[in-house]
Amino acid sequence: MKRYSRFVWGVYYLRHRFAGLSVTSWGRSPLHNAGLPGSVADSQHLEWTAADLVWDPGTRPADGTLKAAAREVGIEVQHEADHDHIELATGWL
Ligand SMILES: [Zn+2]
Repeated sequence: MKRYSRFVWGVYYLRHRFAGLSVTSWGRSPLHNAGLPGSVADSQHLEWTAADLVWDPGTRPADGTLKAAAREVGIEVQHEADHDHIELATGWL
């Protein structure tokens, strides 16, 4: 619960820091996760401590800016083909 609460707070922080972001995927059931292309069995989406972000045109911050802001709240960013995957940093709580 602490990890989940921390992640939710972090997403809230990022949402207010960067207008124009939307979440397209957050928590997943094991069945839903397994059916997604490229999904991994130990995905943090299964623990609800990961989310996928998309951006309104022209609103995505530079990689370094986004990663630094996320790091402030214990979140790691991985840029994927059509979204940014964010998850609670390893060892956070
Ligand atoms: Zn993801």
